[in-house]
Amino acid sequence: MRTWLSAALGIVSLVAAEALLAQVDVRDADVNMYAADSSYDPAIPTPEQFLGYALGHEPVRHHQLVDYITRVAELSDRLSVEVIGYTHERRPILFVVATSPENRARLDTIRTRHRALTEAGDDQPISDDMPGITWINYGVHGAEASGMDASLPFVYHLAAARGEKIERILSDSVVLVTAIFNPDGHSQRVAWFDAYGGKRRIGDPAHIEHQHNWQFARTNHYWFDLNRQWLLLTQPEPRAWMRKWHEWRPNLTVDYHEMRGEDTYYFHPGVATRTNPLVPDRAEELMEQTVRTSEDFLDSEGRLYFQGEQFDNYYIGKGSTFPLLNGGIGVLYEAAATRGRENETKNGLRTYRENIRKHFRTSLASIEAGADLKLEYLQYQKEFYRSALSEASKYSTKAWVFSAPGDPARMHFFADLLDYHRIDTHRLARDVSVGGQTFEAADSLIVSASQPQYRLIRSIFEAVTEFEDSTFYDVSTWTMPPAFGLNYAALSSRDFRANLIGDAFVPPMPVANAPDESAYGYVFEWGPYFAPRALQRILERQLLARVATKPFTAITSKGQQEFSSGSIVVPFDRQEVERSEIHDLMRTIAAEDGVTVHALTSGRSGTGTAGINVGGPSFRALELPEILLVVGDDIDLYDAGEIWHLADFRMQMPITLRRRDALGDIDWSRYTHIIFPSGEYEEYEPEYADRLRLWVAEGGTAIGMRDAAPWLRAATLDWVEPDSEEALAAAASEIPEEEEETEEPGRLSFSDKDDFEAQKVIGGAIFAADLDISHPLGFGYGDRAIFLHKNVEEPLLPTENPFGTVIAYTDEPVFSGFVSDVNRDALAGTPSLIAERSEEGSVILFADNPNFRGYWYGTNKLFLNAVFFSKVFEAPEED
Ligand SMILES: [Zn+2]
Repeated sequence: MRTWLSAALGIVSLVAAEALLAQVDVRDADVNMYAADSSYDPAIPTPEQFLGYALGHEPVRHHQLVDYITRVAELSDRLSVEVIGYTHERRPILFVVATSPENRARLDTIRTRHRALTEAGDDQPISDDMPGITWINYGVHGAEASGMDASLPFVYHLAAARGEKIERILSDSVVLVTAIFNPDGHSQRVAWFDAYGGKRRIGDPAHIEHQHNWQFARTNHYWFDLNRQWLLLTQPEPRAWMRKWHEWRPNLTVDYHEMRGEDTYYFHPGVATRTNPLVPDRAEELMEQTVRTSEDFLDSEGRLYFQGEQFDNYYIGKGSTFPLLNGGIGVLYEAAATRGRENETKNGLRTYRENIRKHFRTSLASIEAGADLKLEYLQYQKEFYRSALSEASKYSTKAWVFSAPGDPARMHFFADLLDYHRIDTHRLARDVSVGGQTFEAADSLIVSASQPQYRLIRSIFEAVTEFEDSTFYDVSTWTMPPAFGLNYAALSSRDFRANLIGDAFVPPMPVANAPDESAYGYVFEWGPYFAPRALQRILERQLLARVATKPFTAITSKGQQEFSSGSIVVPFDRQEVERSEIHDLMRTIAAEDGVTVHALTSGRSGTGTAGINVGGPSFRALELPEILLVVGDDIDLYDAGEIWHLADFRMQMPITLRRRDALGDIDWSRYTHIIFPSGEYEEYEPEYADRLRLWVAEGGTAIGMRDAAPWLRAATLDWVEPDSEEALAAAASEIPEEEEETEEPGRLSFSDKDDFEAQKVIGGAIFAADLDISHPLGFGYGDRAIFLHKNVEEPLLPTENPFGTVIAYTDEPVFSGFVSDVNRDALAGTPSLIAERSEEGSVILFADNPNFRGYWYGTNKLFLNAVFFSKVFEAPEED
């Protein structure tokens, strides 16, 4: 729908709208958004007419963008638009399909023939009448608003441009457009722009308009970076757009961004040595050919740009890299951010309009390339999938098997992810033993390597420890079975038999059978992924619940049954809630949390009077957690957001978010837990430190994650009264320490600086570790071997408490990813998770992030154990 303003401006001509720019201080080159030789259908309103102002003069709000695109699609016989999903904050995500009217009439045929190029067993011939598929996407990072604003003139051009060139492009290609991937982040950006922009444009970078915390707008509602989610799909936005991606399987995907304001203009190819080795060389050549049209445009205007010195195609969960493992070409574009309407830089004044214009014009260049190169692309795509099958037949691994005993939810999440990416999963037809592990047909799945998605399958299943280059723009590994906490094994041709592959199967989200009605109470295991959500429901109803600290055998309506440590018992004894209500709650838990609930028929132990009774001292009463999560300046937004998402979205637990700089202003007595996510803690000396120690001593649980862990430890566990005898004695006995022996590099060439520094970084690797599953923080795990996502180099120092190290890395800890030998040796055998009591309270220290990017389902429970079971263990007895 058009606003009254745009309706009133409907009569304004294109020239007049451009004349609005007379009021805007832009460089001559940026005055004309549209090329001088293009002409447009006057029946379709320009963005300027619709908005009532010139692009770049004011930002475009999400609803304006939705209204404009919807309006243009109504008026054009080249476009269709659909809503493909909604964000967490309920904003629609739009998807535009643009092509010639003739192609629109046969769109289903086009898509069917196109997709046949990517399927096994099809020998779809490539003919001249097959269009290429080009996808232009904007705004995965909401802060980088020039891309979203560029979508308006781009969609306008697709609908209204006249002449041979656009007609040829739309006849030779189907152009897909997502005008905005991340509307929630973008809306934050625009609100700031509007709130602090004035009549006069202020280029001074110190001005508040430029000082928005860009991370909040880069990310989505729960602070996830959606440009890391193409593979992981834990958020609704990528789930919406990736469904479309796989539906269309684009040949060319173009992804629009903004980078540092001091840079010029960037586009792919990126750093050649940092391309994922599973990407065929031909992709790089095609990428170079693809961007010629953009180079020509920028050259014609004398614009600066750069290519292969930065940005890479290693991590495949990014918008420009994911296509490369899926038979397409991906190209990243980055404009130098103005973070406001204009920005004074060392390279001169940069305007927001300039960025919109460059992104718009290179979008036009990209669809031109998409049409011109369509036969090369289609041939490449067909060859990509054919060679996938021939390479798979030569590859040493024939299939992977995996299982998650006791937790069908994690099997569901993993198989669902594979299914989303067109990877077939099958039931394991019979039990198989490999490398000392047995996979049972009843609860295992098998994935054959011999599938069109062979390269993607390898990327998901394989550990990687050899690298051509040690610099990574993002993580160096993402091997998924360990992240999902699965038992898994690769089957070589020796282990593999075709008859291991059963029916195609994607396990649904588990639903447990309703429990029998009990006359004594209920019990459930802690292993299922959503058991913490079940416990939260129970505690919120003010029910008394107890956790088993040892394995036990109970008598249930189905007979005698064994239960593991961590199992939750809800007895009827002294409950203030009706039994029928408790039973209803247990039915809800079975149905919605997929947790099997057992009906107890007696308090007796199944193993006799010497055994463990559910009323005995091996069970501990639990309390409802009241969590405060520390957020704000100097707190890692991603880590905090992942905790928020896990608690609020997945586990449905209320969680209070409080800025760290305002933490001291409130009473903490209502909270049972304060969580300090990773962040800047090195120089952090808050005035509330004494209060924090006292709050812990009185029974609070403080949790410190990654960089927060050493700080929290120093502030609580290791703190001594400055004038105490202990402190004085320590000071007196302090002998000047000998210089620690570090390997001094000596003199190096400046040109080696980048490589030297890259060696020190663990950009994201997977470490193997040993988990004490008898410790309450290890409840719910059946196996001591555990994998952790690691991106902190500093080791967590050991504890003197012999029972305090819940997780320690193995002696050969690097399972996958790039870690220098120095870092590996320094971290081997050190703690990853420490749990200490401190008087009535607890202090829990995580060296790693168990909630990384929302897909580390396998370690989420460690974090939730630290919430629910933080006081279920004691400090060692003093001698
Ligand atoms: Zn970006």
